[in-house]
Amino acid sequence: MTVRAYVALGSNLDDPPTQLANACNALQHIDQTRLEAVSSVFRSSPVGPGNQPDYLNAVALLITGLPALTLLQALQQIERAQGRVREERWGPRTLDLDLLLYGDVSLETDTLTLPHPRMYQRDFVLLPLQELWHENRVLPNGSDLATLLRACADNRVVKTSCELPAGR
Ligand code: ADP
Ligand code: MG
Repeated sequence: MTVRAYVALGSNLDDPPTQLANACNALQHIDQTRLEAVSSVFRSSPVGPGNQPDYLNAVALLITGLPALTLLQALQQIERAQGRVREERWGPRTLDLDLLLYGDVSLETDTLTLPHPRMYQRDFVLLPLQELWHENRVLPNGSDLATLLRACADNRVVKTSCELPAGR
């Protein structure tokens, strides 16, 4: 059995375009997992503390045979391999990989919450997700993407010309 899993990619340190490209290559090598599609790359202003550089964000669609927690561990392994150091919350990072959706699964544990708890308010997640999402399909919270996007604050998210492996 395989599951459609959507992963948000984000970077604002150490050459973000390269960080995202390397992450896409690494996603292709996760056990029992295929990288099906990658969105365009979007640039956005940071929501976290202090004076941080802009973020680059994208969303990838994986088809996976791994359980959700095993997939999250594989994503964290890729973050570590690309030099992620966990310091202040929402601080700058070389690479952030968040598991947005794992099929239609809803769960809340100490290490994994699905769907990702903040995805519905983030236009830098919803805009790239929209490129890979089947029109007319509602999200697990019953909302459609267009409605959620209208409710987002204007974070000045813009599409870039940056291209990723398997990307749009
Ligand atoms: P954030 O992405 O909010 O900036 P981190 O990347 O530092 O924060 O993640 C903090 C913790 O969030 C991780 O240790 C992980 O166990 C937990 N977590 C819970 N749900 C998810 C999810 N859906 N995707 C990624 N991490 C998650
Ligand atoms: Mg994260």
